[in-house]
Amino acid sequence: MKYTVIGAGAMGLRYGILLQEHTNAHVDFIDAWAPHIDKIREQGGVYVSRDHENRRLIPINLYTPEEYDGDPDVWIIFMKQMQLEDMLKRCAHLFKDHQVAFSAMNGWGHFEKIAQYFSEDRIYGGTALVATVLNGPGDVDFIGKSGAGTMHMCAMTNKVTDIEKAMFADFQQANLNPEISDDFKGMCMAKIVFNSVVNTLCTMYQITMGQFISYPGARDMAMQLINEAYDACERAGIKLINTRAEELESVDYVSRTGNPLHYPSMYQDMSRGRKTEVDYINGYIAKLGREHDYVCRTHEFLTHGVHLAELAFQYH
Ligand code: NAD
Repeated sequence: MKYTVIGAGAMGLRYGILLQEHTNAHVDFIDAWAPHIDKIREQGGVYVSRDHENRRLIPINLYTPEEYDGDPDVWIIFMKQMQLEDMLKRCAHLFKDHQVAFSAMNGWGHFEKIAQYFSEDRIYGGTALVATVLNGPGDVDFIGKSGAGTMHMCAMTNKVTDIEKAMFADFQQANLNPEISDDFKGMCMAKIVFNSVVNTLCTMYQITMGQFISYPGARDMAMQLINEAYDACERAGIKLINTRAEELESVDYVSRTGNPLHYPSMYQDMSRGRKTEVDYINGYIAKLGREHDYVCRTHEFLTHGVHLAELAFQYH
């Protein structure tokens, strides 16, 4: 299989490098952040650490959209929501009818944009329960021991296809621990609700996931957000792949045991003066609620809360 990763940031590098190292796949990368591209070219690859250890240089095939002329079987798309539209426009000349697109970005908004270039039967979604940090240009840290992290994947049509089976086999070999789901929207929403609790609260209060869950009221706060999101989903006719209780346990387990030392990616964006994806996470849940005559007051408040935290961070 040939994969081309659009977005050689934290997650794009994680997927692409694990595929490159553990499978027979050919992997290329496309990126547009000039300091990152320059650094990777200057040092002859990307420095990759595993949980802050074993930092080593790994060569990758990296191109700008304008330089690239490859023809992959699968595009793996890992941009931040706000960057995607522009990047897809820049890559449009490369998209062909026989190719499929896979994306495990957080939030909701990316599939509508990808669908402008790929028909629904060629789009695959994923959710990645894993932590990765881009320390700076040309330097990435795959948090978690070897084999850590899990992911779900599902076709937008909910049908399992041969190409999905081939991707699944490669992801498995790459230690990404995939599981095929049979409900695209239910799978995506379960991750959005998880992020709406953990990413949002850790970002607002500038704390790690472990610090969040150590607060005695953390489970109550999480349950309130989960209940509100599930109430909105029920009105919208979306059945999530987790029950409310399972969602709470997932928040608790990942924060307490999985990645207690990790600052979620929204915090990393804020701390580098970048915009967060909150409008596509809590903001999306609130929008879904409003569209179905239900006001998600806490999610609406927290969407403002994160934007206010972005502003406040600039004053420090
Ligand atoms: P990222 O910010 O590391 O990279 C995305 C793109 O932004 C890349 O093209 C990268 O080169 C560019 N970029 C990085 N820093 C930049 C800067 N300072 N200025 C300009 N451009 C910059 O994003 P990511 O963490 O890989 O996330 C991609 C998607 O995956 C998002 O939707 C995210 O929510 C989701 N996700 C992330 C994680 C994680 O742990 N990082 C886990 C699960 C899902």
